Amino acid sequence: MVGGCTEDREYWQVWYDIQSSNTFIDPHVDTTGMPRGYAGISKVAGIIEFWQKLRARHDNGFSRFQSLPHIIFRFTPTGSIMKHAQPGAGTKTPAPARSPFFSTHPSRADHFTESVIREMTRLSIAHNAINLAQGFPDFPCPLELKAAACTALHADLNQYAITWGAKDLREAIAARVAHYNGMHFNPETGITVTCGSTEAMMASMLALIHPGDEVIVPEPFYENYGPDAQISGAVPRYVPIGDDLAIDEEAWKAAVTKKSRAIILNSPNNPTGKVFTKNELAFVADLCIDHNVIAITDEIYEHIIYDGRSHISIGSLDGMDDRTITIGSFSKTYSVTGWRVGYALADEHLTERIRKIHDFLTVGAPAPLQRACVAALELPEAYYRDLASDYDRRRKILFNGLRHAGFECQLPEGAYYIFTDIAGFGMTDTEFARFLVEKIGVAAVPGSSFYHAGGETKLRFTFSKKDETLHDACERLARLNEMGIAS
Ligand code: GLN
Repeated sequence: MVGGCTEDREYWQVWYDIQSSNTFIDPHVDTTGMPRGYAGISKVAGIIEFWQKLRARHDNGFSRFQSLPHIIFRFTPTGSIMKHAQPGAGTKTPAPARSPFFSTHPSRADHFTESVIREMTRLSIAHNAINLAQGFPDFPCPLELKAAACTALHADLNQYAITWGAKDLREAIAARVAHYNGMHFNPETGITVTCGSTEAMMASMLALIHPGDEVIVPEPFYENYGPDAQISGAVPRYVPIGDDLAIDEEAWKAAVTKKSRAIILNSPNNPTGKVFTKNELAFVADLCIDHNVIAITDEIYEHIIYDGRSHISIGSLDGMDDRTITIGSFSKTYSVTGWRVGYALADEHLTERIRKIHDFLTVGAPAPLQRACVAALELPEAYYRDLASDYDRRRKILFNGLRHAGFECQLPEGAYYIFTDIAGFGMTDTEFARFLVEKIGVAAVPGSSFYHAGGETKLRFTFSKKDETLHDACERLARLNEMGIAS
């Protein structure tokens, strides 16, 4: 044994043998709710950094862990055998009934934490707060979809669909994308139906990335892209989207290297609401073409767009058809986030790889719901106009409420989030989010979850909720004003 963890009835202690080729750390503390058998990391720096992150989240109340012990690292001298760390530091924890010892190898799961967005939903439930954290509607999906789903179930469409998507759905997607996005895909070779856009993004990254390849990620970014990069072995290079939503072309150019493999785009953007203009997309397309880079573009909010703006798919620009993976989903457009039906559109060579990864990840998206998604694509154009105008109304309710409560914010150009500046409240994002969920009864997402570093002066609210939910939330937030917290 070269490393380990024990407790001396008072302190948890972890030690680590730096000499070993098979080093591992196992701060397993099951009685205090620690991660069971926390997998080892071969780099001390890695675990310290990870531990500090866990600790910070815990201290700010954003952890499912009840208490975290301090870790004592003991580095044994060359060739020496392991010595136990001495008591004297660490958090007192009750002695466990059993202290099983898990020895595990390093894992890619060691390098990121659980989703803060999803965690905020759990906290919101725990505090009976209004959940303006996770972006999902609290209103029903269209009747047509529910009816089609029931019909599919009753028609015994309850076995696997074709792994890359039911034929009728792929054909309907091809028609819709030709009409709305101006892109043409052969349903047999260019469309992969996935378990939500989350899987589409992960499968695309795994299909494309050789570990060590670089991906360019505009920041702030939707939380998932960080772990997506980690899991696929990509090295992220961040380029800023400023508060004015401008893109700094020089920074983007400088981020491209010989190792660049992909640029991850998200328009309309989560969390900023930015809608990339044709000129901006043309600039990104030129970068892709000049440097042989693929654009992976998450367009899940493509129909939620305001003030007469239009959505443009980068894949529709000249020269981009064979170097773009376009990701879409039924989740947001048809208010069915729990159905988990999305898709990836790409040329046949990219699609071949995406399909292989998709097949072994999930086999396929839910068959009866794929059938119901065909019905979604038969909805009239008026549906999309109403969707956008309903969200426009909700956007204004939340915007006015936030401004009244003392938040600095802009009306978003698209998507269904308002990314606020909270510097005036004198708390960090995690402190303030905790305060809001516990004392005000409204859940939001700490800004730092959208940055690889920074974001502590931001908080994201979603307005994907009924008008009355938003009015209720705004009333609660108005108490901030009454409390005189904002500067
Ligand atoms: N996209 C949504 C958000 O950003 C929901 C993400 C999720 O939890 N799958 O809140």
